[in-house]
Amino acid sequence: MHKTRETVLEINLQHLAHNYHYLRAKLQPTTHFLGVVKAFAYGSDSVRIAKKLEQLGANYLAVAYTQEGVQLRKAGIRLPILVLHPQITHFEALLKYCLEPSLYSIKILKAFVATAKKQQTKAYPVHIKFNTGLNRLGFLENDIDTITAICKKNKHIKITSIFSHLAASEDLQESAFTQSQIAVFQHIAKMMDERLGYHSKKHLLNTSGILNYSEAQYDMVRSGIGLYGFGNDAQIDLHLKPVATLKTIISQIHKIAPGQTVGYNRAFAANEQKRTATLPLGHADGIGRQYGEGKSFVYIKGQRAPIIGNVCMDMIMIDITHIDCTEGDEVIIFGQNATAEKLAASANTISYELLTGISQRVKREFIE
Ligand SMILES: *Cc1c(COP(=O)(O)O)cnc(C)c1O
Repeated sequence: MHKTRETVLEINLQHLAHNYHYLRAKLQPTTHFLGVVKAFAYGSDSVRIAKKLEQLGANYLAVAYTQEGVQLRKAGIRLPILVLHPQITHFEALLKYCLEPSLYSIKILKAFVATAKKQQTKAYPVHIKFNTGLNRLGFLENDIDTITAICKKNKHIKITSIFSHLAASEDLQESAFTQSQIAVFQHIAKMMDERLGYHSKKHLLNTSGILNYSEAQYDMVRSGIGLYGFGNDAQIDLHLKPVATLKTIISQIHKIAPGQTVGYNRAFAANEQKRTATLPLGHADGIGRQYGEGKSFVYIKGQRAPIIGNVCMDMIMIDITHIDCTEGDEVIIFGQNATAEKLAASANTISYELLTGISQRVKREFIE
């Protein structure tokens, strides 16, 4: 591997393959696998990840918004793409680029049917999302009559799947609640099939759902975070490989005398002789202020260095008093051992937020 010369997010596509195979092996061979590539594939690179998932044999992809799907189509991605949270204003683009909407309210359903009619589509695949307890997005059971009345006689659209999302699949203390969500989904899915007179695909599980409730895998599962190397559980994490490594270099080293301060608002004060290093990344790159003030650590040659003072827009300062290092040395922000999950936890957040927050300013490099 070449030497680090600037801030890069290294994306390891072999690790993605490893995680894909690990999750796949938890499922029946006939269960379809949808790879979630929303938010730049959890902050990595949606096109490269989608291409790799296509090669690996994933059956479906999902993004949150229409424009994310358009980007994938423009890059030549051929897999079916589910748009989890489309808005009416993008329905024409959605149809133009053969993206498949999640329809989650009567208003959205009617608006989509109207667009489909205008464009004279035939049996265009749509996905009906039910709210089974997360209370975020989706129809309720008592919408079934209205949904089926609209869809049954309509030749422009066809319900290709019925799905829902679990609220606490990673938390085994909430298993009674999760089981109740599974039961509600089971009931709704059966009613929908009966009313429609045909079987559409069912799917419910996200990554932690696959790991904890594989009995509810139905026809397809939807995995995001697991593909990127995190299982929301320390035991599972041992079997997964983080895909992204964020690294940088030391730009400059300073000797700080007792009584001197470092950074904006003089937030760090040296009580003894200190050596500090300045790194070329900051909150504009996705390392927010919550990681500063000594709460979080980065790694140089395997040794940990606290982030001191306030995180700046384009720089952070670290305490390297006890580390033998020089300007230009590599610094690991997160990666294989010092994981994004651990760094996120040090600032009371989760890997999802840290990963998706790494901004587009950070160069992406790929390991094939
Ligand atoms: C983001 C998302 C997923 C993926 O969840 P992970 O916990 O990352 O596996 C699955 N389904 C829906 C509806 C989502 O919004």
